[in-house]
Amino acid sequence: MTNRVDTITVRTILNSQGGRSFEANLRLEDGSIGFGAAARAIIPGRRERDLTASEQLGSQKDAPNIVALRKYLKGRSFDSQRDFDALFFEDGQFAKVGADIALALSLAYCRAQARSCGCSLKDQLVGLSDLEPKMPHPLVNVFSGGEHGAHISYQQLMIIPQHDRIHDDIETALRVYGEIEKMVTSKGMVEGYSASSGMLTTSPNLRELFDIMANTIERLGLSDHVMLGTDVAAEHLEQGNGTYKVGDEIMTSEELAAFHRGFLDDYNFYFYEDPFGPDDAAPWRALTEYAPSSTIIVGDDLFATNVKNIDPELASGILLKMNQVGTVSGTLDAAIAARKAGMKLIVSHRSKETEDTAMADLAVAVGAELIKVGGPRRGDRIAKYNQLIRLAEGDECPPV
Ligand code: PEP
Ligand code: MG
Repeated sequence: MTNRVDTITVRTILNSQGGRSFEANLRLEDGSIGFGAAARAIIPGRRERDLTASEQLGSQKDAPNIVALRKYLKGRSFDSQRDFDALFFEDGQFAKVGADIALALSLAYCRAQARSCGCSLKDQLVGLSDLEPKMPHPLVNVFSGGEHGAHISYQQLMIIPQHDRIHDDIETALRVYGEIEKMVTSKGMVEGYSASSGMLTTSPNLRELFDIMANTIERLGLSDHVMLGTDVAAEHLEQGNGTYKVGDEIMTSEELAAFHRGFLDDYNFYFYEDPFGPDDAAPWRALTEYAPSSTIIVGDDLFATNVKNIDPELASGILLKMNQVGTVSGTLDAAIAARKAGMKLIVSHRSKETEDTAMADLAVAVGAELIKVGGPRRGDRIAKYNQLIRLAEGDECPPV
């Protein structure tokens, strides 16, 4: 098998918010072609890998970095995905291309290698991670807030169906989301839909919306199968000097911790993400200790998918977002280290998505407990649900 690179192309494409993202194509000398695209965030977390370098490249296919990369890669072979990705690691020769161009190329290389070996992206990722694959349950966004819009402070309020089959999870997601949508629409509460397909409502009251979700689940007789999840995205609520703004209130970490404990006591949470800013270690540790064993306290902006940040005392789960670290290998390293530390794995979308569905393959390959895809009302989110259905049925490539 030859895995020598023949050509690469990097271009800007539109993301789901009408902004710019990067996609790459990579062709091996044996003719195998791989594609990859990088999602982005409305506001990236401060521990994420820097994007400015790739932003400055704009849409220039012939930007000096890309020309240098194309020249360097032509005819070159790599021992492994890691060997390829090392070009983009912090001390790598092409570290300066930025996280999203690096990820687009890393994914394109991974897919091209998969094609070359005649296997699927999922199987290629299984081979690279050596974790136990399984189908995740979906985190389904129902209401949005925070930097994603609307009047509540938390970024996402979600439901988590937990049946034996992903098909049933998706059916339940559609049913519960649809019931809630009908009800809040009839009350005139819906103002629109967010980037991640959550409803944007007139309510500023988190409890009112959690009650609507919990009551609907109960009314439909689904209490044994559906739990709640939330992304506080607390980094975006920080006001400086250790305080947070929740609604109209300025809270200290201690006050915010008490606020979270109230929700954990009163609702059936399986998933509770980013309750504090990434540098606020003590309350993270305390809340992880306080939470019942049925609730995962999850670090997104806390860990930024970087093995260097992982600490199982701070949180019991890690969110994996490939573009936070910028390579397939970096993402798998974080997954492997977190699993070894006994943590739960959750693969996540970004608020500015592309049509790339690699995150679904990744979630299955690393055996993630959960996958955060958004709500079922936008094509960019639906594409990921559809890829999960294909993977569950053993058809591992999207239609061409
Ligand atoms: C998320 O954490 O689910 C999310 C979509 O965040 P971001 O806006 O950073 O992509
Ligand atoms: Mg988050």
